[in-house]
Parts: sequence; structure tokens; C-alpha cells
Amino acid sequence: MDLHFSPEDEEFRARLHAWLEEHAGRLEDAAGVMKGAGAANIMDAIQMARDWQRTLWEAGYVGLSWPEKYGGQDASLTEQVIVTEELAAVSTPPLINTIGLTILGPTLIRHGTEQQRERFLPKILTAEELWCQGFSEPEAGSDLAALTTRAEIDGDDFVVNGQKVWTSLAPIADWCFLLVRSDPDAPKREGISYLLCDMKTPGLTVTPLRNAAGGIHFSEMFFRDVRIPRANLVGDLHGGWQIARTTLEHERSGLSSVLALEQNLARLRRTASNIALGDGRAIDDQAISRELAQLWIEVEGLRHLGYRTLSDQIAGRPPGATASVGKLFAAQLRQRITHLALKIEGPLAPVTKKSPHVVERGRWNAAYFDALGHSIGGGTSEIQRNTIAERVLGLPRSVQD
Ligand SMILES: Cc1cc2nc3c(=O)[nH]c(=O)nc-3n(C[C@H](O)[C@H](O)[C@H](O)COP(=O)(O)OP(=O)(O)OC[C@H]3O[C@@H](n4cnc5c(N)ncnc54)[C@H](O)[C@@H]3O)c2cc1C
Repeated sequence: MDLHFSPEDEEFRARLHAWLEEHAGRLEDAAGVMKGAGAANIMDAIQMARDWQRTLWEAGYVGLSWPEKYGGQDASLTEQVIVTEELAAVSTPPLINTIGLTILGPTLIRHGTEQQRERFLPKILTAEELWCQGFSEPEAGSDLAALTTRAEIDGDDFVVNGQKVWTSLAPIADWCFLLVRSDPDAPKREGISYLLCDMKTPGLTVTPLRNAAGGIHFSEMFFRDVRIPRANLVGDLHGGWQIARTTLEHERSGLSSVLALEQNLARLRRTASNIALGDGRAIDDQAISRELAQLWIEVEGLRHLGYRTLSDQIAGRPPGATASVGKLFAAQLRQRITHLALKIEGPLAPVTKKSPHVVERGRWNAAYFDALGHSIGGGTSEIQRNTIAERVLGLPRSVQD
């Protein structure tokens, strides 16, 4: 494992830093619109976020490790990480096409046909086409292989019927990658296929769901005789389960969650500096400053775990089961940070945006509820613990399926 950045990497970081400073105005606009977006200007916010990702791509800072012929830079994963770190350091909004960039893109690079890579990868990079992930179903979450959405072959198409649920960003997505049961008679992991579906296809409807924080983050998707061309099958017919594993490994790996945590913690230090406690400020309280320091130490620990996963990837090893350690720990840290925030706010913690007494427009209240979802989305914490037990620690399975 090598945790050092080379002089060339540091030069690259300095160039990027200068570029970001030059574009700071644009950044603030995008961040402001993303944060303040109400229903009325949500489309403006989305367009702005698409434009921001495109600007970054044009400057050569999106898809660094992707092949040049698909719009990437053929650069190293290390440079990709430097970009992620620097974007987080200047508090940019997250890239809007994260699902395409971090989950589907690497899956298509590994398992897609040449035609699929040429068709889809460039538009993921430019945010021309936004993606969502249609895996979970009402009776198939942790036990994803129990999915029942059916796909039958009819001529050159699959005809899909069924329901997906908890699909993040579905109302704004242009495309969806989904798992379907293509052979109902095969053992459950052997009868699944991996398809790419245009969200405008007739028969596909999206119903948004409100989450505990009051926002609309995910949706239900209903498929009624939705026709998906056979050319949009990724990998082999009935071979979707192996491909889904690649997708899930990429979903659970990555340093971006660490950087989001660092941003959260920096923000929390500011909150603690602004809130009065006794005769001083919350940040001067010994117990609070000790908790802040402990969280900082653990976030740094997580960052180094991320570097370790990265080091494996650079050496050609896939993210693998150790990504589960980072996913589990990151979810716990996020919940502890937001819990401490509510503790610092004290009796004002439950006050919402509508009240004149609200602290920071209710940011921590919403963040607290949002953090709860992090130990569910992308695989629950219990499932990560099972993976760690079996595939990292080599313990025997506790439950047979
Ligand atoms: C914020 C958020 C975003 C999401 N975005 C998407 C998305 O974009 N696309 C998508 O397809 N899905 C998405 N999901 C769905 C998510 O992947 C599922 O909710 C998750 O996999 C859990 O499935 P479930 O809800 O059916 O719970 P279940 O699988 O029914 O689990 C219920 C409880 O039982 C526990 N449990 C289940 N099996 C075991 C076991 N073997 N051992 C120990 N405990 C077990 C679980 O940990 C959990 O506590 C999202 C979820 C959230 C919260």
C-alpha cells in the first residue's frame, strides 16, 4: 500500500486548485441554487448542476480514470481522487450524475459491449443523460436475488413488467439500469439479467415518495409492458447477478463519502463556534470539543481506509469486500456527527425552517434524518456486517439461503 502523492500529483493538485479559484463564482451559484432549490426552481437547479458537471468535464476534471475514447482522460485513479478531494475542499455541490459516474460507468467499462460504451459513457460524463438505479423491489432489498420484475423476450425486445422501489433521483433521470428476472425457472441468482432502460419508454411510470426528512429523494417505478431493446442487455442473458456484484462493489467503495463527512464536520465546528453555551460558546465546552476531536480522528481513519481501497484498485484489484468496512463506518460516522449537531443545538434542534428561532435554516435537523438512510441505502449496515464477517474475516455463514 502506497499512501504518498508524487510531485506530479501535487502539481496536478495545484493546477486544479488554481482553476477552481478562477471558477469560484460559478461554483457559488451552482451550490446556492442546489441548496435553495424549491419546487419552482428545481428545474433551473438541475440544469445548473448539469452545466457545472459539463464545465468540469470540459476542463478535464470528470472521468479522469476512464478511457479517452469514451470522453475520459486515461489518467490515474490517484488524479481522480485528487479532484474529489479538491472539489470537497472548496465545498462544491456534488456532481449531479454521481450514480452514472461512480456506479454504472465502471460497470459498463468492465462488462458493457463496445457499442454500449460508445453510446452511454460520454453522456454520463457530460451529464447529458442522468442515471438512476432500479434494483430494489418491495420484496427484494437485502435479499436482492429475490426480485420478481419479469422480462420476457419478444422479437428484438425484452418486455418488462413489475415494480421497483426506493429509486433515488428517478424523476430527473433520463435512463435507468435495472435487474430483471429473465428466467423464472432457474435458481434465483441464475435467472437475472441486467438491462438499460430509457425513462421515457411508454409503460414506465414514476411515483415520488417523501422521506423522513420531508424531501423527495426516491420513488417507486412501475413497469407495464415496457419494451427494452435486446441491445440494451449488459453482459450475458441470465448473467446479470455477477454484473450486479460489480455494481454494488463500486457503490460501496470510494472516498467521496469521507469528503462529505469532512465537510460536515467542518460545518459542525462552525455551528459549535456560533452557538452560545453557558458563558461561552459550545465549541469551548470540554465534552463537546473532545467529541469533535474524536470524530475528526475517526474521519481521518476512514480517509486512510479509502486510500487503502484505492491502492488496491490501482494495483488492479477490484474494490471487493473491504468496501463494506468503509460503507459501514461512514454511515455510523455520519449519524454520530449529525447527532452531536442536534446535541449542540439543544432545545432548538427540533425547530424547523418556518420558525424565526431556527438554527442555520434547519440544516442539522434535515441532515440528521437524512443520515439515518445511510445505514440502509446501498445495502444495510447489517448486510455490510455479514459481508465483513464472511468475506473479510472468513467466518462461517450464520444464515443459509
Ligand atoms: C436513501 C436511500 C436511497 C436508496 N436508493 C436506492 C436506489 O437508488 N436504487 C435502489 O435500487 N435501491 C435504493 N435504496 C434501497 C436500498 O438498497 C434498500 O432499502 C436496502 O437494500 C434494504 O432493503 P429493504 O428496504 O427491502 O429492507 P430489508 O431487506 O427488508 O431489511 C429489513 C431489515 O432486516 C435486516 N436484514 C435483512 N436481511 C438480513 C440478513 N441476512 N442478516 C441480518 N439482517 C438482515 C436489514 O438490515 C434491515 O434492518 C435506497 C434506500 C435508501 C434508504
